[in-house]
Amino acid sequence: MSTRGTVNKLIGHTDSYYAASANAAPVYPALEESVEADVCVIGAGYTGLSSALHLAERGYKVVVLEAERVGWGASGRNGGHVGVGQRRGQEDLEKMLGMDTARQLWDMGVEAVHLVEQLIHKHAISCDLKRGILHLAAKRSHNEHLKMEADLLRERYGYEQIRYADEEEARTMVGSERYFGAQVDDGSLHLHPLNFALGLAGAAAAAGVTFYENSRVTRYQGGSPCIVETERGQVRAKNVVLACNGYLGNLEPRMAGKIMPINNFVLATEPLPETLAQELIANDYALQDTLFVIDYWKLSGDNRLIFGGGENYTSRFPQDIRSFVRKYMLAVYPQLADTRIDFGWGGTLAITMNRMPHLGRLEPNVYYSQGYSGHGVPTATFAGKLIAEVIAGTEERFDVLAQIPTPTFPGGTLLRWPGLVTGMLYYSLKDKLGA
Ligand SMILES: Cc1cc2nc3c(=O)[nH]c(=O)nc-3n(C[C@H](O)[C@H](O)[C@H](O)COP(=O)(O)OP(=O)(O)OC[C@H]3O[C@@H](n4cnc5c(N)ncnc54)[C@H](O)[C@@H]3O)c2cc1C
Repeated sequence: MSTRGTVNKLIGHTDSYYAASANAAPVYPALEESVEADVCVIGAGYTGLSSALHLAERGYKVVVLEAERVGWGASGRNGGHVGVGQRRGQEDLEKMLGMDTARQLWDMGVEAVHLVEQLIHKHAISCDLKRGILHLAAKRSHNEHLKMEADLLRERYGYEQIRYADEEEARTMVGSERYFGAQVDDGSLHLHPLNFALGLAGAAAAAGVTFYENSRVTRYQGGSPCIVETERGQVRAKNVVLACNGYLGNLEPRMAGKIMPINNFVLATEPLPETLAQELIANDYALQDTLFVIDYWKLSGDNRLIFGGGENYTSRFPQDIRSFVRKYMLAVYPQLADTRIDFGWGGTLAITMNRMPHLGRLEPNVYYSQGYSGHGVPTATFAGKLIAEVIAGTEERFDVLAQIPTPTFPGGTLLRWPGLVTGMLYYSLKDKLGA
């Protein structure tokens, strides 16, 4: 299950380590005709790919339209952490939504990780799948919460794969003086995100899904059938799935105000000698800290440090992403001052006000799912399965998520930025201050 040694840069993807180490993948044609489908999926990230795969397995005729390449968006660029539960902690969810819903959401969050693992095994997807995530207390005051949460998950939710490790033990697992304790989660996973996306696409194509790349949807119209238009083609479909997430743009103003696109950045070092790699991360876990703007990292299949740190809230990426992220990496690992940085890239994800996913129906046959707030590897994959369930007529599980109210960002679609930027900068400043 390793991508070690592959040098197969995928054309049309961002210049990332993932594109440089991607498994071979077909190039799909652009749509240049009028076609018919039971379901037209717009966007080929995990949401769209998982919807398409699960629908095709149920016998639906599915067409996927992707503006760029399969996995070009956040699904091909992310940190590859596949964490259990929801982006929002269980204690918060209990207060927000009551015990029953909180428990259903927890169960779904565990199932989402199992689903990722099952899909990888079932479809023999080669994507450096590994087990275990450490959540590191970046401030001494964060320890108490990590410990409380681990106890709550064990005792109330029966999740025995999590435990608290004190400062002394945490420092045996990470070669950094920066942390004060950790949650050790052996039920979560990590992987090569682009190869996971490409593997899902391969499985969907084998199940009969038709893909079109370089086929940006310029407009669509609900109805019977729905008409979905690209520059040179058209799909007439009984159902539409909107799966564009942070790249939705102006395609659907009715949803845009519920999400805020934000940019997050990642680097990949040169391959590290085995001893240094083990000094940084003792047991090949993925790691993330407790800051508001999270630092997250892991080793790749060929022992590079893949480190994510820093975000911005403008429409542009920093000019020199490697230097931008390197300062966050050096704050954790000053011993990497002389290590070469081979890749730096960014991606856009969508967050919601309450950090819960936003999914639902705009019309009886137009479905959407978005806004996974940094927890999309498992949640988007799972949401795709729920979309297939609801289109096939089973609404219960889809509705558990769809019924969670998603507040609109103050300022709505047009004026979201100033309020968000102020809020984000406030919290990132808090990260930099003491306890
Ligand atoms: C740098 C970074 C790090 C992250 N790290 C993690 C992590 O470690 N763990 C985790 O769980 N989550 C992480 N996330 C979040 C996660 O990657 C996303 O939540 C998830 O990939 C969203 O999948 P998606 O399919 O909904 O959207 P995307 O993968 O963004 O796919 C949307 C697709 O829609 C296409 N599209 C948009 N508009 C149109 C149109 N008009 N016509 C046709 N196609 C269109 C886009 O080209 C794109 O390919 C990270 C995100 C980023 C950016």
